[in-house]
Amino acid sequence: MFQKILIANRGEIALRVLRACKELGIQTVVVHSTADADAMHVRLADESVCIGPPPSRDSYLNIHQIVAACEITGADAVHPGYGFLSENAKFADILAAHNITFIGPTGDHIRIMGDKIEAKRTAKRLGIPVVPGSDGAVTEEKEAKRIAAEIGYPVIIKASAGGGGRGMKVARSEADLVVALQTARSEAGSAFGDDAVYIEKYLQKPRHIEVQVFGDGVGHGVHFGERDCSLQRRHQKVWEEAPSPALNAEERAHIGGVCARAIADLGYSGAGTIEFLYENGEFYFIEMNTRLQVEHPVTEAITGIDLVHEQIRVASGAGLSVRQEDIRFQGHAIECRINAEDARTFTPSPGTITHFHTPGGLGIRVDSGVYSGYKIPPYYDSLIGKLIVHGRNRVECMMRLRRALDEFVVDGIKTTLPLFRDLVGNADIANGEYDIHWLEKYLAKED
Ligand code: ADP
Repeated sequence: MFQKILIANRGEIALRVLRACKELGIQTVVVHSTADADAMHVRLADESVCIGPPPSRDSYLNIHQIVAACEITGADAVHPGYGFLSENAKFADILAAHNITFIGPTGDHIRIMGDKIEAKRTAKRLGIPVVPGSDGAVTEEKEAKRIAAEIGYPVIIKASAGGGGRGMKVARSEADLVVALQTARSEAGSAFGDDAVYIEKYLQKPRHIEVQVFGDGVGHGVHFGERDCSLQRRHQKVWEEAPSPALNAEERAHIGGVCARAIADLGYSGAGTIEFLYENGEFYFIEMNTRLQVEHPVTEAITGIDLVHEQIRVASGAGLSVRQEDIRFQGHAIECRINAEDARTFTPSPGTITHFHTPGGLGIRVDSGVYSGYKIPPYYDSLIGKLIVHGRNRVECMMRLRRALDEFVVDGIKTTLPLFRDLVGNADIANGEYDIHWLEKYLAKED
């Protein structure tokens, strides 16, 4: 097992990983920017190294500084959290070259899944259902028209190098398509330095359902069920739950099995999430994330398994602590992402938190890196905490969530808590009846 892990992240996820290391008796090193000198992860770590000024590119994305911090402190592994360098294949390769373990998959697996065309091709080869569309990149107008006519309008044009919900264009007719193809290619070229785009069927009212998988790198794969992340604003997840209100046990076992087998065949190592759009009983692969996800706690709540422990075990070569038949699903869990943002306009609200009181009681978990008196720096994303609630069933989970939201106090800044207080009282949400467009429509009506 590792002696010392360096955590190359900040905020709630740095603290999340730190807790797992402490439980496993592993020494911790955290890195931080000058803006984060007072952060909770810095206070609680065994050692900390300041790696640069506030902008991420000079600190949390500065590979040389992070490798130097490993060398200075003698860390034998790095946990990248999510975001920042977590899906940077070069970072994984550089660490490997320095004999430092990257707690995640190989650089090659990150590379395959980071290129959407290659990812889709690989998924298809592994027997994962994909969205009908072009086989690879499309450059010619004629070819685009032929494919679109074949799969039927509307279609969506996506940049192979796209991410974070950027680089997509919907075309509803052949006239649309010609313009969309041109703009998508030139925008992808300037935004990502790669103008490869591909075409697929645009699904009208899908849900976003993702499967949590793990591989041990030597041919075993398991799944930890799915999460429903359909409640999104601008392609950013807002509320996540497990299990999905839309799936039955048979569908769950089927798609989980398909994903676990694919991970085993790929020889994948560590945590991964296979994301699907789900419509009319069918799953359509959209992408795979090769890291821990923000919403992993809902899976932990319904399985009782610490996914960061598993990541560390697998990276150390100790293998997974569970086989598929050991993974059992109990009850229902919901996560609300609490952002330092105005709940109506979603404009960021950095500043000092004058009072921070978190809810407690049975079934409540709060993952957060902030505290009363903490000043939120303006440089990073606005997530200040996650409220995760577990109940024996969805009804109990919702009752508990409503109570927990009432108890939550964050003074001094604006947060998205009021949005969640509205959502728990909504009939569609109570019935689990929503697709990926529901939240945007709801917010537009409220204005
Ligand atoms: P990114 O890597 O930028 O997040 P994704 O491929 O995961 O891109 O897609 C992001 C979002 O775009 C999806 O969650 C969905 O809302 C929408 N989307 C992507 N592909 C399709 C499609 N074929 N039909 C309908 N919506 C889509």
